[in-house]
This record gives sequence, C-alpha cells and structure tokens, in this order.
Amino acid sequence: MRFILIFIFLTSFGFSQTDTLPYVQVLGIAQDGGYPHFGCEKECCKMAWKDTSQRKFVVALAIVDPKAKKWWLMEATPDIKEQVEYFKKLSGGKYNYLPDGIFITHAHIGHYAGLINLGREVMNTNNIPVYVMPKMKEFLEKNGPWSQLVTLNNIKLVELKEDLPIKLSEQITVTSMIVPHRDEFSETVGFRIATNVKSYLFIPDIDKWEKWKRSLIKEVQKVDIAFLDATFNNINELKNRKMSEVPHPFVEETMNLFKNETDQTKSKIHFIHFNHTNALMWDKAARTEVENKKFKVSKQGGVY
Ligand SMILES: [Zn+2]
Ligand SMILES: [Zn+2]
Ligand SMILES: [Zn+2]
Repeated sequence: MRFILIFIFLTSFGFSQTDTLPYVQVLGIAQDGGYPHFGCEKECCKMAWKDTSQRKFVVALAIVDPKAKKWWLMEATPDIKEQVEYFKKLSGGKYNYLPDGIFITHAHIGHYAGLINLGREVMNTNNIPVYVMPKMKEFLEKNGPWSQLVTLNNIKLVELKEDLPIKLSEQITVTSMIVPHRDEFSETVGFRIATNVKSYLFIPDIDKWEKWKRSLIKEVQKVDIAFLDATFNNINELKNRKMSEVPHPFVEETMNLFKNETDQTKSKIHFIHFNHTNALMWDKAARTEVENKKFKVSKQGGVY
C-alpha cells in the first residue's frame, strides 16, 4: 500500500522513467527563407503575413538529454533567437539557456547564419562547441564575420569526420554523412543521431537521392525516424525560377522511391525543410494526402 501511494505521489508530480529518456524536438520546419517568405504576396504566404501564429521557423532540431541536463541545437538558423527562447518555453526552462553545442550541416544561410548572434554585438558567448566538417570549419575560420567568433572564442570549432560518431553524453551519439548538394562554400552533411531509445536521420538538404553514394532506403531502414528534405512537392512548384538551379528530391519522388516498402518503413519518414510554396507546410488537405500514403509531415514543436 505504501509503495502504491509513493508511486501515485511520484507520478502525480510528473516523475517517471520517461522523464530521463533523450528525445528530439523540432524547432523549425521551413526552408532557409522561412515562412512567410521575403516579398511573397501569393496565396502560400498571405495567411502567415496576416496571422503571426501561422509563421514557421527555419529547420532546426533540439537534441535533448534530460539525464545529463543538456541539449544540443542542430543548425544555427536566422531564427536562432526565437528558437532558443521557444525551446526554453517548451522545456519549462529546465536546461541551460544556450545549447551545450551546435551542429551545422552546411554553409547555406538557413543553416549557419544564426551564428552571428553569438558574437560580441549580441550574446558574446564563451566557447560554445560548434560541430562542423573540415571545409565548413575552414570557411568559418577564414571569412568574416564568422572568423571573429573564432578569434574571440565565442565559439569553439570541433571538426567532424564522416562516419565517426561523436559521443555527446552517455545516451547520445551523432554521426555525420556527406550528401551531394550545391557546395559553394562547404561540404554538406546529414546527421544520424543515436540515443539509447531511438535513432534518427536528419537530411534537410540534398540535391537528389540518386546522386547519393548511399541507399536512402537502407539508411531509413536503419533508423526509427528520418527527417528528410521536402523543399518542393513536385516539379511544377516554382513558377518564376529554374528548378534545375535549386535541385532537391521532390516529395513525390521520395514517396515513389518507397512505394514498394512496408507502411512501417514509410511511416519513419517525416518531411521537413519546406519552401514557402510547398503546401505541406500550410495546407491541411495536402498534408492529409501524404499521411494517407503513410508518410509523415514534421510539426514545429513536435517531440520525437
Ligand atoms: Zn536549406
Ligand atoms: Zn509564399
Ligand atoms: Zn542548402
């Protein structure tokens, strides 16, 4: 009886074993330009200009280890200020305000430009570890304003090696894998995040799956949840720009690639990194259509 009472007492205060398990929380789902998009007066962005609650941040994940009381941010987006505050709110202020480390996939502005907020003009942080691949590291070291973050020790660059897992805590490791993308300033990677409960794949940007040296199907089968590039839904989406200038796997192509796989495999795929023109971000009917085919659409604020 006494044990039962203690159990009821503890659970009623929210203590349970699940409170110590690591998790991933989505802090943004939009492509680099965010949502609504700069200068867009079309249907896609109209409602988000009018109703600020419809706005979406640029793609980012929080990787959280409640046991170690630490969290890591995947991508330093132009929305970093809002996203760090958002995570504080979602987690009830249980963690350090600033992340215990930041992982960056590549040097396109939606994925690293938020680093400027760590410098002298804003947060003036002290040696926040920033995990990057060799070319990305060199790019940050050799070009202003990023180089100043390095010389003033606002950030501490930690070099990643493809396929070499980095241990963040007892419960979490992160491994990088190179993906083909328009690599003007840096290489581009995706990450595999492994916790003692679940494993995740995070590939927000890639040119086309068939250009990748790995098999997407195999990589998805290896994990529980795969956050995948869903910039565009199909080839007709960009009216006034050449699609070939900004290649991405269309959502339709990715779904087609998995058409012979089981529903269980399909349901591991959570689409993310939506261009403002992609209806999956703002239209319920479009989302339902994808979900009826057993795929999922990432939710901002969602816990995975
Ligand atoms: Zn991007
Ligand atoms: Zn738009
Ligand atoms: Zn990119």
